[in-house]
Amino acid sequence: MLVTMKEILDRANGENYAVPAPVVQTELNARTAIKCAEEMNSPIILLIPLIFDYDVDLFGRYLKALAEDSAVPVAINHDHGSDFESAVSCIKAGFSSIMVDRSELPFEENVAQVKELVKVAHAVGVSVEAELGHVGNANNYEMDRDAALTEPALAKKFIDETGVDCLAVAIGTAHGAYNKGQTPYLDYERLEQIKKETGNFPLVLHGGSGTGDEGLSKVSKMGINKVNIGCELFASAIEAIKTADTDGNGAYGFANIIEEGYGSRVKHFIEVLGSKEKAWKPEKVVKREKAVLTENTIL
Ligand SMILES: [Zn+2]
Repeated sequence: MLVTMKEILDRANGENYAVPAPVVQTELNARTAIKCAEEMNSPIILLIPLIFDYDVDLFGRYLKALAEDSAVPVAINHDHGSDFESAVSCIKAGFSSIMVDRSELPFEENVAQVKELVKVAHAVGVSVEAELGHVGNANNYEMDRDAALTEPALAKKFIDETGVDCLAVAIGTAHGAYNKGQTPYLDYERLEQIKKETGNFPLVLHGGSGTGDEGLSKVSKMGINKVNIGCELFASAIEAIKTADTDGNGAYGFANIIEEGYGSRVKHFIEVLGSKEKAWKPEKVVKREKAVLTENTIL
């Protein structure tokens, strides 16, 4: 079933676990992520960053249909939306959530731009994530890490002024792959303070890849309710191809091998973050129905 990210994260927040948000590049990735979630009875959040060459309208409609037909709660989130128009196009395409990333702007400007899209999204039942502080890139980790960690005292003000449904925080992780042998240092104390200052608000961790199971498991019990993962899933898919027997007709297995590699890692994160067996059934299933025309219908 298609749900908003807010529905998923409010539950996760209430029960102290996190839900994986895998980056989805293709139709097959989306099917795999949902299938893994169904097999483990977990909610799942599909992440769509518009850095790939998507046809947003077509892909959104497709993902929406997949989510509606799924046995577990599925949210579709536009990841790192950087402008007003792309957010609206994702809403139009059927996404149930958007991330409005203005984390590189000064506080007041970040608030103003997020607030504008919160008004639009909430008017049509779509939930909104924003980021305070800034999660940088792993290939520049030493420089980026401490550059813009989230200030706990500002988080509550940001949430109150914008009306967002969840907040991405910078507590030490970074996007992409870290240098070999490097794992991020997580600022648990800062996370604890943010959770306290915000009155137990749903929080998001970006840059889950390469963070390590121990750290991810710990933060998911401390108040992180969604963990974004991209690089590690695709690295697992590439590794699966490298080690598979693809001689002769084995080459036909290309897509399946990739999905096995991608899916095995999705399942791993469902386990680590604690969302296994956390799916729920809707109280009322809303089915799309064809409009019934009567003689009173104004056409
Ligand atoms: Zn991110």
